[in-house]
Amino acid sequence: MYLSSIRMPQLRILKQKELEGHFEVSVINRRGEVTCPRCGRVTTKEHDRGQQLKQDRRLRDKVVFLTLMKRRFRCLWCGKVFTEPDEVFGSRRRSSCKFREYLGQEALHQTVKRTAQKEDVSEGLVRRCVAEEVERRLGARGATEIPEFIGLDEFSVSGRRLYHTTICNLVKREVMEVVEGQGRQKVEEYLDSLSSPEIVKGMAYGYRNMDNFRLRILATNSKGTGACFHTY
Ligand SMILES: [Zn+2]
Repeated sequence: MYLSSIRMPQLRILKQKELEGHFEVSVINRRGEVTCPRCGRVTTKEHDRGQQLKQDRRLRDKVVFLTLMKRRFRCLWCGKVFTEPDEVFGSRRRSSCKFREYLGQEALHQTVKRTAQKEDVSEGLVRRCVAEEVERRLGARGATEIPEFIGLDEFSVSGRRLYHTTICNLVKREVMEVVEGQGRQKVEEYLDSLSSPEIVKGMAYGYRNMDNFRLRILATNSKGTGACFHTY
């Protein structure tokens, strides 16, 4: 058993094999009954099934391709034939929600290009995942802990020339917040919004390209609380 169902508890693994470059895994949803979207009553009558190819997060450095057995059910009460809902992948998506979440988070730390190369997916998919991740984070504001060192980086979402700035806890290497917009003013606003900005000793710009992590002191920030750094 290469892939345990821990990763996707809603799915049952029908078969799986390990090939030279990837895994092939057939899965089906565990549910035995569905609610009819027309009359709201429950049915267990399977009508037919089809296959959909999906991609999931790598396992031991190999890409995981999933074949989802997607069923259609027939309502015994009103006769409607309908496709079962898909919470794991989402309607008409070719990758799992968890994988897309992972891609979005990775690309907040690294560049879109590198994330796409590493995970063997298109840059377009990674950009969409970043946009989804940003939406989630904009919806859940408010970092609790203020770190001594903050990292900042700007990125555009979906090439729409709409820039966001990610603010990262450099000590824990976690993205704390994503703010809309870019530039120094956004950073100042963010510092102003903190309850104790004096805790921040330094800030690094462009942390997503920290291949050779070096810091250069740019200037003391306007709060007099520490220094701004630039990574290059
Ligand atoms: Zn029905």
